[in-house]
Amino acid sequence: MIRFDIVTLFPEMFDALTGHGITGRACDRGLVTVRLHQLRDYAHDAYKTIDDRPYGGGPGMVMMAGPLTEAVLAIQKEQQAAGFDPGPVVLMSPAGRPIRQALIDRMVDASQAGQTCRTIVCGRYEGVDQRFIDQQVDELWSLGDFVLSGGEIAAMAVLDAVIRKLPGALGEPESAVQESFAADGPGRGILDWPHYTRPEVFGGVSVPDVLLSGHHERIADWRRRAALEATQQLRPDLLSDSSRSEKKGP
Ligand code: SAH
Repeated sequence: MIRFDIVTLFPEMFDALTGHGITGRACDRGLVTVRLHQLRDYAHDAYKTIDDRPYGGGPGMVMMAGPLTEAVLAIQKEQQAAGFDPGPVVLMSPAGRPIRQALIDRMVDASQAGQTCRTIVCGRYEGVDQRFIDQQVDELWSLGDFVLSGGEIAAMAVLDAVIRKLPGALGEPESAVQESFAADGPGRGILDWPHYTRPEVFGGVSVPDVLLSGHHERIADWRRRAALEATQQLRPDLLSDSSRSEKKGP
C-alpha cells in the first residue's frame, strides 16, 4: 500500500488527479491513499500567513519554515498512527534531479513489499526558506529544467506515474509493462514502438503489412526493431550507457 501526504496551498488542484480517469478510479478503489494538507492550517495569525518577504530584498515572497515544519511533523504523526513508517519528505523543486521512471518504479515496488509513504511539499512564490529544506527535506524532485508557478502539477505528475503502475489500476496489466522506459519491458528502458489502429489506410498511408499478418513472432520482432529505431532517432541519449547507469537521486 502506498500513501501520499501532500502539503499545498491549493488542495483543490488535486481534484484533477483524484477525480478523473485511471488515477481517479484507483483512488476510489483504495489502491492508493492521497491525503491533502492545507498549509494555511499551520499558520499562526488571523490572516493565515505562511509567507514573508525575503531577507536581503528582492521581488516575491518566501514560504516560512515554521508552518512547513509544523505541517510535516503533524503528518509524520498521522502516518505513524495509520501504521506507516514516516516516509521521506520530498520538496518539489527545479533544483532537484529530474524525475525518472526508475524513481517511480522504486515507489511502486516498495508499495508491493509493504506499507510505504511519502510526504510531498509543493512550493509556491519564490520558493521555501532554506532552513526548512536543510532541517526537514530528504529529497528534491524536479519535473524538468523549467520553472513552474508551483509544485502541485509536478507532484501530480509523479502521483499519476506511480498510480497507473499499481497492480489493478490499468485495465490490461500488460500495458504498463510494454511501454516507454519500462526496464522490464521489451526495450530495457527505451521508447515505445509506433501504434496503429483503424482505418487501415489513412492520408494515403497504410498500416505496416506485418501488423496485419497475424504472425505474433514477426509482429513482436517488428515492434522491437521499431522501438529501437524510434529511440535512435528521438532519444539517442537513452541508448548510451551513461544515462542508463543509476546516479544518486531520483
Ligand atoms: N525561485 C525558484 C522558482 C520557484 S517556483 C527558482 O528560481 O528556482 C515556485 C515553486 O514551484 C517551487 O518552490 C517548486 O515547489 C515548484 N516548482 C517550480 N518548478 C518546478 C519544477 N521544474 N519541478 C518541480 N517543482 C517545481
